[in-house]
Amino acid sequence: MAKSYLTMLSYSNITLDAFHTQWLPDHIQAAMLRLDKLHPAISGNKWFKLKHNIEAAKADRCNGILTCGGAYSNHIAATALACKLAGLGALGIIRGEEHHGNMSHTLTTADENGMGLVFVSREDYRNRTTLQAYEILFPDYHVVPEGGHNALGASGCEEILSILPTTDFTHILCAAGTGTTLAGLINSAAPAQQVIGIPVLKGARYLEQEVRDLLHPANTASWQLLHDFHCGGYGKHPAHLIDFINTFHAATGIPTDIIYTGKLVMAFRDLAQQGYFPDGSKVLLIHTGGLQGNLSLAPDVLSF
Ligand SMILES: *Cc1c(COP(=O)(O)O)cnc(C)c1O
Repeated sequence: MAKSYLTMLSYSNITLDAFHTQWLPDHIQAAMLRLDKLHPAISGNKWFKLKHNIEAAKADRCNGILTCGGAYSNHIAATALACKLAGLGALGIIRGEEHHGNMSHTLTTADENGMGLVFVSREDYRNRTTLQAYEILFPDYHVVPEGGHNALGASGCEEILSILPTTDFTHILCAAGTGTTLAGLINSAAPAQQVIGIPVLKGARYLEQEVRDLLHPANTASWQLLHDFHCGGYGKHPAHLIDFINTFHAATGIPTDIIYTGKLVMAFRDLAQQGYFPDGSKVLLIHTGGLQGNLSLAPDVLSF
């Protein structure tokens, strides 16, 4: 029973899908590492960020995991289900007041998966002492910061590049929220690979330092964050992004999400067209999942 949560998530579902589209110059090859196929709710990178945190909670004989996030958070959705599968309790501190009878799909599912939900006002949520108070109230819970942003989270992401053969890619592109996934990729990339993070938050200049704080001193890959592809900011999804996501899906069969991976692929297109990638580049895009977040849209917005 103890290992059932590990075997429920089979990495054999993950594929490396080469794709070509009409906007991609012929001298560039591209492929998508489909972490989204891991599980519909424990999407992509969130599982890798949670994995060692769950192991730590179990090793410390904690009753569960205490974490926090917004009403559409992929991290909340993943934590609720991962804890259920691992036989751990889960408590989520949720940003914003509860709207009775009108919970998001994410929160309804988290609730069904047994996560205890505590709603705090946006103002209280921003205040560090609110979360600290809950940490004190639940000393037998292992605390995972918002978005799975801790060293255990980054170390779990070091596994991502070894699921399938990825060493002959010249560039690795990944969307960045907290930068935890990116740090794990940088720590595990081959020395000649260039790792590029695409922040989805506007003006996230603090991210460079936050990524650096999670890097192993011996890491060798070169990396950078490119800040111009947030499409107006976190949670902003202008019509041209929606159109792009629909067109990309029609051309490749690959679904992306409006918060992270859609912006990642659009950044890739723009960089490819600007001549960013030298001839012969082989570019690996990490599909970090997050498709459950698309359920926040009206049903006819996306074509898949
Ligand atoms: C949370 C999330 C990210 C951001 O990951 P970080 O490790 O916080 O940078 C990227 N993509 C998807 C789909 C996510 O859900």
